[in-house]
Amino acid sequence: MTAEVHKSADTETPGLPVVVGGRLRSTHPATGAVVGEFPVADDADVRAAVRRAGEAARWWAGLGFGGRAERLGRWRAALARRMPELARVVHDEGGKPVADAVIEITAAIDHVAWAARHARRVLGPRRVGGNILLPDQGALVTYQPFGVVGVIGPWNYPVFTPMGSIAYALAAGNAVVFKPSEYTPAVGQWLVDSFAEVVGDEPVFQVVHGLGDTGAALCAAGVDKLAFTGSTRTGKKVMAACSETLTPVLVECGGKDAMIVAADADLDDAADAACWAGMSNAGQTCIGIERVYVHEAVADAFVDKLVAKAKALRVGSDDGADIGPITMPGQLGVIRRHIADALERGGTAVLGGNDAVDPPYVHPTILLDVPEDSAAVREETFGPTLTVTRVPDLDEAVRRANATPYGLGSAVFSRRSGMDVATRLRSGMTSINGGMSFVGLPALPFGGVGDSGFGRIHGADGLREFARPKAIARRRFRTPMPIMSFRRGPRTDALIPKLVRLLHGRG
Ligand code: NDP
Repeated sequence: MTAEVHKSADTETPGLPVVVGGRLRSTHPATGAVVGEFPVADDADVRAAVRRAGEAARWWAGLGFGGRAERLGRWRAALARRMPELARVVHDEGGKPVADAVIEITAAIDHVAWAARHARRVLGPRRVGGNILLPDQGALVTYQPFGVVGVIGPWNYPVFTPMGSIAYALAAGNAVVFKPSEYTPAVGQWLVDSFAEVVGDEPVFQVVHGLGDTGAALCAAGVDKLAFTGSTRTGKKVMAACSETLTPVLVECGGKDAMIVAADADLDDAADAACWAGMSNAGQTCIGIERVYVHEAVADAFVDKLVAKAKALRVGSDDGADIGPITMPGQLGVIRRHIADALERGGTAVLGGNDAVDPPYVHPTILLDVPEDSAAVREETFGPTLTVTRVPDLDEAVRRANATPYGLGSAVFSRRSGMDVATRLRSGMTSINGGMSFVGLPALPFGGVGDSGFGRIHGADGLREFARPKAIARRRFRTPMPIMSFRRGPRTDALIPKLVRLLHGRG
């Protein structure tokens, strides 16, 4: 996704961030109302923030799992109490319906709770199996924080998405320097301020504002790990920048998620899930469903149900709207191009179509029989649009679903074949008889394959992502036959091959 930014106040496009006098101004994408202004951090500011974070990280790590869990618990409670206020900021800045913002924040709070509650169990020291050849040695694994984690976030889920890195990095004992998207600085600032109000002792969680170059500065500012969420294109730039210092990266990028609807699916549930996963948040969801492959035997009935549901959605900026404006004005052109290309190349719009793009809104659009090599099937659209394609069987559905360089999430609806299809789908996550439901289960790892990136946030894997495994071998007694010593002698040398034969010689 390409950020389109005006560096002066010349253009008054609602929602387009502008930098005025060294301050980033954020506005509502439909009304243009100013939400806030934030100082743009230059290279020196970013380096200073990372330095402060390095000192704070030592204090934070020293608190141990219990001390950190207690403080993260305070933050979780503050987030829960002040959720309506935060939901309003999310709405004002990104245009998302308040009810959707509440769901987003709820999921984020669940992650703060999960990470804090499980960090000791997942990352605390544990004994692992020994080796009969080295009976004197005990084996321990413990996990140590990296130090300072840089988090670069997108605008589409400005609370939930970065929280998948922030909460887990903090629970693992790191300090965090967060660069929110230039489209959502007010949300980023709100998160950091609310944390400081309940954990004011040290700057464990800081924010730096700015455009892409502030993100680039964060990659080069001496962070110990960089967690990036955004487009594949920027993800590659982040990796390249981090390679200079061998800084480890976590890269969560876009997707082109598919849903498969089998002949034995519950069609009401499948249509409901396709509509929700495809169109909520105006389709601006990395794990949103953008393509549906439906068995030809049930295709007509499925499309009728899907169209009826999508038709009922109301577009607008008021509190009762189901679909808000497109947050990033530049994205409207991408959505317009995908729809036009699909129709020119033989697709049919059974709902919406070219006229659906009505800036700053896009009305629900359902496209049938779109060629598989068209932009609407190949590229991330990020709008409330779905392509629906008939397939003769599940094998063909899986083949087409997997025929994309992306591999983030996926979904399958079937009474009997859900598990079989789920394991064959090339994606990091799959919902069976649900749409995006994996995202509501904090214990499940979240991340993609291929162009969708690598590394995992959420769950135990998400905690381990923000800690280094440290291997410790501890001698428990003095063995009479030391293998790893020049004291070995001929008796031990003779014994080793015998032991190896005994252990491994059969089979
Ligand atoms: P971008 O890639 O445009 O931006 C992501 C972040 O990177 C922003 O904070 C951006 O800053 C920053 N950035 C831009 N250039 C650089 C650079 N050279 N070095 C370092 N940082 C930089 O993505 P969007 O914000 O448009 O987010 C939407 C994308 O995110 C979609 O592709 C979506 O699928 C994906 N996404 C993936 C998720 C996942 O978990 N896999 C979850 C949510 C979204 P600025 O905004 O100031 O340019």
